[in-house]
Amino acid sequence: MPGANRLVEQYRSQKPIDPEEPLIHGVAWDGDVLVVDPETIAEHRLRRKWFSASVSNAMEGCHAQWAAGQIIPSPVDPFLARDAGSFMHDIFEHMFTLPPEQRTRDTYRAGRDAFARDLFDDHATQARWAEYLDTISLGLWDLEDPAQVDVYATELGVFGLPLAGIGVPLIGFFDRVSIDGTDEHGHPQLSIDDYKSGKWSDERKLARYGDHYGDQIRLYVHAIRTILAERDTEAFRQAHADPREKWMFEIGDVVNGQLLYTMVGRKRYIDLSQKAIDTTVHTFAAHWDTHNVLADTGRYDTKTGPLCGWCPLVQVCPAAADAGKCASERATPPPSKIQLPIPRLRPQISASAHSPVQQTPKDKEPIMTDTAETKPTAVPAEPRHLHEGKPWDELSNDDLNIGSYAAGAVFGLVNRATALLRQSFPDVTIKRGQIRQLAVLLAKIVQAGEKHITGRTDWQTQANTRVRGLLFTVLESTPVPSGGSVDDWKAWATRVRKNVIALIDQSVWLWDQTELPHVEFEALAPLVRDPFDVAA
Ligand code: SF4
Repeated sequence: MPGANRLVEQYRSQKPIDPEEPLIHGVAWDGDVLVVDPETIAEHRLRRKWFSASVSNAMEGCHAQWAAGQIIPSPVDPFLARDAGSFMHDIFEHMFTLPPEQRTRDTYRAGRDAFARDLFDDHATQARWAEYLDTISLGLWDLEDPAQVDVYATELGVFGLPLAGIGVPLIGFFDRVSIDGTDEHGHPQLSIDDYKSGKWSDERKLARYGDHYGDQIRLYVHAIRTILAERDTEAFRQAHADPREKWMFEIGDVVNGQLLYTMVGRKRYIDLSQKAIDTTVHTFAAHWDTHNVLADTGRYDTKTGPLCGWCPLVQVCPAAADAGKCASERATPPPSKIQLPIPRLRPQISASAHSPVQQTPKDKEPIMTDTAETKPTAVPAEPRHLHEGKPWDELSNDDLNIGSYAAGAVFGLVNRATALLRQSFPDVTIKRGQIRQLAVLLAKIVQAGEKHITGRTDWQTQANTRVRGLLFTVLESTPVPSGGSVDDWKAWATRVRKNVIALIDQSVWLWDQTELPHVEFEALAPLVRDPFDVAA
């Protein structure tokens, strides 16, 4: 991870951000897709010549967030984990080039204090920062004895190395490569050691969110094996004739990969089985394709989730607004609406734009357009004869499989919309168009809930079933505004949606409790009859 000195320069020269100054340009919203013009894509390198493990990882999240993160300037903050980690990397990189007896806490402290003086003029801030850096760094001495590490090199890098089997050009820096034995040709067998200054990831977290750090190590292992397989060819020799790449011709295979969690003082060995490496490499290739399609089309789709709270676009993102997302109190305050003047495209412009990677026509609709503008589409005059197949197939004979989960979902919603109107207005003739409007509204609430929990929508999924279950409970407790105005109906819809999302969060919260907390009956005792509002 190069660049700590560059961070110092940037920190020393950066000017305070003007709260009236726009921080973004060359982008617009088309529905909930962020459209980026070709000049901005080029200016901010949204199309990468070489692909890194971290950009690959970003392709799994919200593409609009990633694009915005590249465009919106991000000031250096040495007290931010991201930037502090760079200083720690730099200090350790230097320390592990020293003889074993000099890899001490004192050497670390000397590097730390040098950076503190470079960054800050006053002693109090220097001391405060030094203390902070210690909290993320000193755990190194708990997880290993640095003097015992047989260092091969620090900060080796590959720059655009086409990976075997997929040809994707990898860029990556190996924090530290240590020697773990010697092979039959006398080449050093390697361990790839990567520092992580963040929190420990337990098995459950890894299973839930994926092992992106592990993927990074596996990609580096695949890069080393690409080198080993190709280094005897003339083409490889010519391409890597630079003396700084001499190491490529001297190394043996990788036998270990480990993450060194320097804040918590623990290490984690990475699964380097061929199956795990193949999966990582395959995913990396798919993400490279995704990145290219995004740059080709200039359309970066949104995906709501917990990270919205940390997203710079959260104040202006239509998808976040629909899903009820807002900035996390634990995050750096995001730019304001004035700083992010992102226009909305006119319909005729948006209609001619390309489709983004993950978008379906269903996703392109606004999630909660519960206004009278929604025109009913024509009902086919001829009856459709649907076939009944297995529930896990949405289609049968190229049409809706009436036995599918999706059919169960949409029939259930229309059923519920009809019952709701019937029970709420027993003496009124309910029109087909009114049932349709309420069904659409309920469907949009379900999709908002689904997007909230998975980032996408699909009538076939268990997520859809779960959200519908919660919706039906909320509906039972939230009377429709009998005789109410359009605004009353909108307020009702907003309330239902918020309560559904609040119940989704409650459900996930319950799963998060590895140990169930003590039940506080005192919280239940004062309950009196009142309108249902768990989101309040
Ligand atoms: S607020 Fe959420 S959905 Fe919107 S761009 Fe950011 S991460 Fe994506």
